[in-house]
Amino acid sequence: MSNHRGTALITGASTGIGATYADRLARRGYDLILVARNRERLDALARRITNETQRSVEVLTADLNNRADLQRVEDKLRADASITMLVNNAGVASVTPLANSDVAQMQSMIELNVTALTRLTAAVTPGFVARGSGAIINISSIAAVAPELLNGVYGGTKAFVLAFSQSLHHELGGQGIRVHVVLPGATATDLWSNAGASLEVLPKEIVMTVDDMVDAAIAGFDAGEFATVPALPDIADWEAFESARLALKPNLSHAKPAARYGF
Ligand code: NAP
Repeated sequence: MSNHRGTALITGASTGIGATYADRLARRGYDLILVARNRERLDALARRITNETQRSVEVLTADLNNRADLQRVEDKLRADASITMLVNNAGVASVTPLANSDVAQMQSMIELNVTALTRLTAAVTPGFVARGSGAIINISSIAAVAPELLNGVYGGTKAFVLAFSQSLHHELGGQGIRVHVVLPGATATDLWSNAGASLEVLPKEIVMTVDDMVDAAIAGFDAGEFATVPALPDIADWEAFESARLALKPNLSHAKPAARYGF
C-alpha cells in the first residue's frame, strides 16, 4: 500500500514496538513523526525508513517525563493538521512488588504511561474532532486485565489506558475518529531488561516477537477491532469479558445499597 495517509506521530519510536509501528506505517503510506529520547537511534531509524519507503520522517527528540519537552510534542499535535494518527506507545514497566519498589520510580512510570499519554491525547483530539477524522492507537498491556502478573502500579497504568480508551471510543467513535487499544502479552523488546527483568526466564511459549505482535495489532486495526489482544486465541473470550462488564452497568448505581448489606 503506498497511498498517502497523512502523518502518524509515534511516541517511544526509537526501539521495540514503537520502531516496528514506524516501519509498518511508513510502508502503508504514512509520513512519520518519531518521538523518543535517544536521538541517534531515532535518526538511524528515520534514515532507514526514508531510504526504504521514500516517506518523510521527522524526528522529535523529547523526554516525555520532562514537562517542557512534553509541551513541545503537545504543541506539535495541536498545530500540525497533517497529523492523522497518534500512536501512544512510549512506556516503561516494573516487575517488583510494591514493598520493594522505589516510589519515585513508580511516580515517574505513572507520569510517562498515564500523564503524558493523556496530555498528548488531549492535544490531538480537538483537531481530529474539528476535521471529523483521525486515529488514536493506545498501547496498553494484558497487565490491564491481569494486574497480578507484574508490578501493580504498572498494571494500574495500563488499566488506565484501557479505561481511557473505552471512554474515548465512546466519546469519539461517532465523530469519525478511530480509537484502538492494544493489549500485548510478553513481547521480546528491551522493556524487560530496562525493568531489571530477564525475558529468558519466561517460558518461550508466552513470548511473542515484536514483528508478530505489531503485525497482529495492525491486522486488528484493519479488521475494525476496538481492542486487540494479539495472543488471545478466541476473540469470543474477550467478547464475553466485555459483555460481563456491560451487563453490570444498569445496576451499578441505585438510591439504596443492595439487600445483602441489610437494606
Ligand atoms: P521498549 O523497547 O523499552 O521501548 C520503549 C520506548 O519508549 C523506547 O522507544 C523509549 O525510547 C521510549 N521511552 C521510554 N521512556 C521515555 C521517555 N521518558 N520519553 C520518551 N520516550 C521514552 O519497550 P516496548 O516493549 O517497545 O514498549 C512499548 C509499549 O508497549 C509500552 O507502553 C509498554 O508498556 C507496552 N507493552 C510492552 C510489552 C512487552 O512485553 N514488551 C507488553 C505489553 C505492553 P528512548 O529510550 O529513546 O526514550
